[in-house]
Amino acid sequence: MKVINYNGQQIEYHIEYKKIKNLYIQIKDKNVLVKAPKFLKEKYIDDFVNKKAKWIWTKLNEEKQNQIEKDYTEEDYKKLEVKLNQICNKLINTTKLVPNKIRIRNIKYAWGTCSANKNITINLKLVDKADEEIEYVVLHELCHLKYMNHSKKFWELVEKYMPNYKEIRKKLKHNR
Ligand SMILES: [Zn+2]
Repeated sequence: MKVINYNGQQIEYHIEYKKIKNLYIQIKDKNVLVKAPKFLKEKYIDDFVNKKAKWIWTKLNEEKQNQIEKDYTEEDYKKLEVKLNQICNKLINTTKLVPNKIRIRNIKYAWGTCSANKNITINLKLVDKADEEIEYVVLHELCHLKYMNHSKKFWELVEKYMPNYKEIRKKLKHNR
């Protein structure tokens, strides 16, 4: 085990020699693993890791940040449910796209999903987002009732009902 110092913190790392061509650093579950080609000198690897100290430190902190997940309560659920009702009524009325069921779940990898049997799932985490952002997610999923893909036609349909959707989409991506 080896150590680098950064920001007054000691960061441990391990070197793993492999049959690879390039040196790279992998950060997983708070472990810093340096994968190195067999022919590389240890000194060269250590220098490389030291040069990357800031990046490693940032990545480790990001990982920590991601692990702090808010605990959502029944109250959040109800709050989003009320908002969703209004938004869905409005959007279903204007688009005439009608889902089979809409439900709220604390899902991990998407803001919303739409299944082949026309069930829409909306992420509970949206409770902390602005109304327009929730509206965008609902509209996006409603449009999947017509196009089960992200084709040009799909995006044209989204744009038809929300001309500034690109802006809102960007917001959702950046403060996730
Ligand atoms: Zn989609």
